Amino acid sequence: MTAPLQRSPAKDPGSPPEISASVFPWDLADEGLEQVLDNLQGMAGANSVYMCNLSQSTRPFRGGEYPHNPVRKRYKCEDCRIYWSPDMKHYGKIKPLRTERDFLAKTDWVEEFTTAAHKRGMKAGVELFHAWIDPRRLEKEFPDSIQVNEFGKPVITHNDGHPAVCLNSPAFQEYALGLYSDLAANYDLDYIQTCLIPYVLRTKYLTQNLPPDPIDWALVAPEKGGCFCGHCMAAAKKSGFDLEEARKELLILAKQDKQPIRKPGILAAEYLRQQPVLKRWLDFRCESVNNLYRMTSTAAKSFKPDIDIRWNHYTRTHSYYSGIDLSSFTKHVDSIRANAFVEHSDDLKLVDDKVRYLENFEKAAGDRVHWVAALDIRGKDPSVLEKSAELSSFTGCDGYALSHYGGATFENLRAVKRGLQKSKWAAHFK
Ligand SMILES: [Zn+2]
Repeated sequence: MTAPLQRSPAKDPGSPPEISASVFPWDLADEGLEQVLDNLQGMAGANSVYMCNLSQSTRPFRGGEYPHNPVRKRYKCEDCRIYWSPDMKHYGKIKPLRTERDFLAKTDWVEEFTTAAHKRGMKAGVELFHAWIDPRRLEKEFPDSIQVNEFGKPVITHNDGHPAVCLNSPAFQEYALGLYSDLAANYDLDYIQTCLIPYVLRTKYLTQNLPPDPIDWALVAPEKGGCFCGHCMAAAKKSGFDLEEARKELLILAKQDKQPIRKPGILAAEYLRQQPVLKRWLDFRCESVNNLYRMTSTAAKSFKPDIDIRWNHYTRTHSYYSGIDLSSFTKHVDSIRANAFVEHSDDLKLVDDKVRYLENFEKAAGDRVHWVAALDIRGKDPSVLEKSAELSSFTGCDGYALSHYGGATFENLRAVKRGLQKSKWAAHFK
């Protein structure tokens, strides 16, 4: 067990930063666990590693090939599988599915990975990815747990046209508690990080660095997003919010012509003032997210009080429209990975934008949580990465999260270290 993370405002300016890095289980199986840790520690200066579980799609994520994997050029993973040996007593109706691929299934990767990292004095974490349950399985086995929009239709999210899970579904909540309890009770993890996507309207805004004013999101949120299901009706009622009545009012808004509203250039904040029921509904979604994280954090800490509950803050702006109200949400997590990938763009000018974003993030959340800035280590130009690894350190962050090891060239790993040697933390990377 390594020392607990230093958290603001108690953080010591002289203490080393946390340089975390993400790996996938197949990186470890293909390249060798010790070799991967050697590379991350030696080349990039990492002192913290986390392994992704419940991942989806083909990797590397943006296409191309793995640069140093000796076994494969790319990997299509099984949807939303775990790579540890689950203790089923923690689960209810929804049980986690373990990998069935031969080269992965014989090993408890969380156990091996955590033990190996701790032997080197590195922190060890697990990430639970964007969707915690395979959306096809959700449709087939748990249709009662699907998010629905104001018309009662399933909310389609980032999962290739498949629906999103409802965060107020008791079966899903039980499953979420199971994941956190199982991991905290049975593994000596320093942190559990998650990138669960709570509410999504349109995928393209997630990946753009500078999305438009959220007026577009406010106008279509109840039509494109969830949730108005029976579980949400019941949860809202408990908090004194009549969601059924709100739905009727929002349906009237849905029939309005949106163009006259957009035309004078009205801002989202003003529109929400004019439509308090919409604001109340958006607040309710944030309360639903807060409630889920309060429950999972409490469950994990009942087994391991010092475990760090970490949120991957993947939306760069307007997170309120995806259900994250930072000011109240930070009460339910211990640390945050602030995502603002620019390094893959190979555009040095974007590093300045990123630094400004991170400085603002420090103002918004830095006093309340330990936070690390995400660096995308999969770009083609190491000089951009090196500059970002240097300059991002001066923004108030407590370290970095390097994503993802398998897709990064060794030259990029070394560029991170060179940046660190010129950073605010240079004394720790001689
Ligand atoms: Zn719902």
